Amino acid sequence: MKEIVPAPPAIVRNDYESIRELFAKNVVPSYGRFEIVLSHGAGSYLFDVTGKRYLDLGSGIAVCSLGHAHPAITEALGEQSKKLIHVSNLYFTEPQGRLAAEIVKRIGAGKCFFANSGAEANEGLFKLARKFGHDEGRFEILTATNSFHGRTLAGIAATGQDKVKKGFEPMMPGFRHIPYNDLEAARAAISPATVAIMIEGVQGEGGVTPATPEYLLGLRALCDEKKMLLLIDGVQCGHYRTGKFQSFQKILEGVAGGDKFLPDGLSMAKSLGGGFPIGAFWVRSPYQDSLSAGTHGTTYGGTPLACAVALAILEVIEKENLAEQARKLGAWLKSEIERLAKTCPTVVKSARGMGFILGLELAENIPAFAASDKTPALQFVNRLHAAGVLTVPAGNQIIRLLPPLNLSSYEAGEGIAKIEEVVKSLA
Ligand SMILES: *Cc1c(COP(=O)(O)O)cnc(C)c1O
Repeated sequence: MKEIVPAPPAIVRNDYESIRELFAKNVVPSYGRFEIVLSHGAGSYLFDVTGKRYLDLGSGIAVCSLGHAHPAITEALGEQSKKLIHVSNLYFTEPQGRLAAEIVKRIGAGKCFFANSGAEANEGLFKLARKFGHDEGRFEILTATNSFHGRTLAGIAATGQDKVKKGFEPMMPGFRHIPYNDLEAARAAISPATVAIMIEGVQGEGGVTPATPEYLLGLRALCDEKKMLLLIDGVQCGHYRTGKFQSFQKILEGVAGGDKFLPDGLSMAKSLGGGFPIGAFWVRSPYQDSLSAGTHGTTYGGTPLACAVALAILEVIEKENLAEQARKLGAWLKSEIERLAKTCPTVVKSARGMGFILGLELAENIPAFAASDKTPALQFVNRLHAAGVLTVPAGNQIIRLLPPLNLSSYEAGEGIAKIEEVVKSLA
């Protein structure tokens, strides 16, 4: 039969195929992407180009702290961009100064430096540590096995996972790994060259493992004793995800001596900008002025636009008491995963984490997963996609839930119902 209607252009005929094609031809294939092409979002929901709706319990890996298309972010972007987007750090601007003050207020006496990503924020802390130890010839930084600190050359040297280093040797010198939550191992690993210890308050990529209160307090005492800096990577676990501004504040809540605890440096990114790129580190007094003029910098760090967005996000979090929301709903989500571990132990092994940084640990040897060579975590995440929920795998066995801080209790219920549906289909 003769075709009467002309074929529409490719982009209209099949968004999914044509966008995949653009990637296949033009984008470096360094990511293992899921077979989903997203087009827009609203609150905790995302929509793909075929119109399918997903509940987003991954928030772009703990980034979209207020979900998608939040009016406060849209307004901050619109209003600030009409005034000033960028001027460089040759000049002062109000939003950067105000954001620094807001961060200092929430952590403790010290100062902030602004960058554009988590890796860069950590890079700043590494430089701070090297500067601190320089005159004594100390430069080595201890980090934990299973940690994640970013993908720059220093970041992969710092990251305690072989898979990120492979193929990029020789590693940048000056990093060694110690087992996490093992204070004696930390003490034993210190050499005359050691100048700092960096840990995540809650290991994210490593599978949602919080530091214990004893570990945090013990590392503080150890670093004081050995005149080393204690650095916390709060890129993923920070920004109210645990129910407090920083995870150490939550972990040490009510613990004797916990209210006096402060790290010497702390990195931030991810939720800080809600999707607009921004990173930062905070450095404690009296080290706050050691990176003096000319020693560190970045063109884009702390633009008025990025800082205006971050300020707007903090305002919404405060006004809507989203820290409490993350703490309460997070506790409920965790108890529901624990319930699934009890009722379906052949599929769910345990619940991990706190607040809105949670892990669902899968049981070993789930029969339905045996046929594929994809990891159990990937297969589970794919089944959740089919059910309309986005989550983030961590390692082979763990599914991370990193929802927006303003997830509603209805949405949390919907998420659990769909997770339960998938769990039951595997039991
Ligand atoms: C994501 C992450 C980083 C790296 O942040 P980028 O913005 O990707 O550079 C560093 N540390 C932790 C704990 C992270 O989760």
